[in-house]
Amino acid sequence: MGLRTGEQYLAGLRDSREIWHIGERVADVATAPGFAGAARTVAAYYDFQHDPAVHDLVTYEDQDGQRSHLSFITPRSKDDLRRRAAAYAAWAEHSGGQLGRSPDYMNAAVMALAAAHQHWAQNDPALGEHALAMYDRCRREDICLTHTLVTPQIDRKTPLGEQEPYLNAGVVRRTDTGIIVRGARVLGTLAPFSDANVSFGLPVLTGDGDEDYALGFWCPVDQPGLRWLCRDSFDPNRSLADYPISGRFEEIDTVAIFDDCEIPWESVFDYRDARIHNTAFGALHFTEALGHHVIVKNVAKTRFLYGIAHLIADSAQTNSFVNVQIRLGDILMMLHTMESIAVAAVEAAEQDPRTGVWYANDGAIQAGLRLFPEFYVRIVDHIKQIGGSNFMAAPSEATLQALGPAVERYFRGAGEDADGKVPLFRLAWDVVGTSFAGRQELYERFFFGDSQLTKSQNYMRHDKTEAIAMVHRLLDPHGI
Ligand SMILES: Cc1cc2nc3c(=O)[nH]c(=O)nc-3n(C[C@H](O)[C@H](O)[C@H](O)COP(=O)(O)OP(=O)(O)OC[C@H]3O[C@@H](n4cnc5c(N)ncnc54)[C@H](O)[C@@H]3O)c2cc1C
Repeated sequence: MGLRTGEQYLAGLRDSREIWHIGERVADVATAPGFAGAARTVAAYYDFQHDPAVHDLVTYEDQDGQRSHLSFITPRSKDDLRRRAAAYAAWAEHSGGQLGRSPDYMNAAVMALAAAHQHWAQNDPALGEHALAMYDRCRREDICLTHTLVTPQIDRKTPLGEQEPYLNAGVVRRTDTGIIVRGARVLGTLAPFSDANVSFGLPVLTGDGDEDYALGFWCPVDQPGLRWLCRDSFDPNRSLADYPISGRFEEIDTVAIFDDCEIPWESVFDYRDARIHNTAFGALHFTEALGHHVIVKNVAKTRFLYGIAHLIADSAQTNSFVNVQIRLGDILMMLHTMESIAVAAVEAAEQDPRTGVWYANDGAIQAGLRLFPEFYVRIVDHIKQIGGSNFMAAPSEATLQALGPAVERYFRGAGEDADGKVPLFRLAWDVVGTSFAGRQELYERFFFGDSQLTKSQNYMRHDKTEAIAMVHRLLDPHGI
């Protein structure tokens, strides 16, 4: 099939998927209020790869002669990583980095899952073959993926094997043709708009009675026995002039519930071995593979936020004051930091000697992943401080149209009319203040794991030899 168009993608959403939202099953996510805007945006992503202006930039020809999005490439050189970064950047810069889970995010994940096929094959060669087949099919059919890696937050202290069984999704039994999966997994962002789901990864298991949860597989979003429970949509289903961001980018988060769901054996790649399961993230270079997309996306997101901050300051000429300039300069510094990290991630990339595959630099990716949640909160604070009450003094498009010239002059900026200023402030509020904006902040804090714990884990696993040697050298009176 190869590169899909938006129309082909939207047609694929019309299946028997069980999506639940505010007490009702959503009949068609492509048209339902609260969902249709994001479906259109993901469709635009698929159309984008056919746009002659970027087609060659965002696609490549694989060994089988098929053209695919560059996010599927198995990087065999640093240059492959450069090309992949350019493809990520093309869509992210086009969309202000507002769609965290544009499909290119998970494409690199299935590449990494397949590149590590020998890891899965340690007990059973078939499991490695299954990972390779999953990647191949996702690439050939341009499949849009969601993923559910996390145990529901019920009890983070008691080992899973000692908790009520199958709250977290696990294997109940094996059948002649597959496995029966029961339980929940979080948090499937983009699930209503995806074709398939990948579940694997967390949690870290002890192996004492919790092997049932050492599990990795993929399945269609509409697999019988699989139900998706959405949080409330934050797309208010209003004019895009009023809600230009939440009306386009509400990718939705969901809890997946597997109700004795039968998964075909060919779709399983991680099965009941706590050691293989626990060591998978490292073997996969999961953080480097997916984190590369995150960094490039967040360069675009920071640039977009910088643009917003500058324009709202310029609107009332508050950027003539040094305190506002300092805030704008602080955002610019964060943009430069993210841009530098994106370059370092590729230029200091490393090759996995076991597989020959190239991955973005681990240290650069970790720094970018852990700095950005702090940056994001700070940038939002700057924008709120710069905008002041103007966010609350931006009436809807309908009100301005109804009252027209009688009120317009009260809503103009120093150098622009109300029809330039009001939409700008509404856009800015949709990024920093609406329910959608609140979710964006939580997303940046958590979507790639909890930053606090990850910082601690990074410290614990870091090779400190060089740092220690330096201190010892200067402790020694004859050291230099
Ligand atoms: C908007 C959003 C979208 C997401 N999308 C996805 C997705 O598409 N797919 C997916 O798989 N996941 C997704 N996630 C989930 C994300 O991966 C998790 O939020 C993240 O891994 C942290 O897990 P948790 O939320 O269960 O928090 P927890 O791990 O339970 O942490 C909650 C708090 O408790 C503390 N804590 C917990 N355990 C410990 C411990 N052992 N020691 C010390 N402190 C501890 C943490 O520091 C943190 O402050 C998403 C999350 C958000 C918010």
